[in-house]
Amino acid sequence: MQMKQQVKERFNHFLSRKHLKTTLQRNLVVDAMVELGRHTHVDELYLLLRAKYPYIGHATVYRSLRLLAESGLAREIYLGDGITRYELARQGERHDYLVCSDCGTVTEFENSSVEKEQLRLAHNLGFAIETLKIELKGLCRHCQVRHSNTN
Ligand SMILES: [Zn+2]
Repeated sequence: MQMKQQVKERFNHFLSRKHLKTTLQRNLVVDAMVELGRHTHVDELYLLLRAKYPYIGHATVYRSLRLLAESGLAREIYLGDGITRYELARQGERHDYLVCSDCGTVTEFENSSVEKEQLRLAHNLGFAIETLKIELKGLCRHCQVRHSNTN
């Protein structure tokens, strides 16, 4: 499945930048998030995974979700009940991204005036928009520093 592959590749990029290993268990968490296709929380995901993979640890699931959020591939949702939920930031939804072409870190941003301008532009061109997406590629802060240090 393409989506799984994409998310995993980006996640693995992020992990290697953080000098963390890509592990089977971390990949299982990513797969489960993609398969689930909705927001979830640590305890729920842990139970789902444990049913299939009894060796998986609660701490691993927790940490993987935190890392996914840190990488920008997932976001944390707070509904005010004290439970942190996680949801994959999906393509096709209205999201704007900054993508580092070096380490692959994805940062999500939102700007409603950009959105309005896009809609206006499309409307003027007689175009019916299905998805709005901006992907800006470049170097993240971390990689800029790294690059300037190696010069
Ligand atoms: Zn970078």
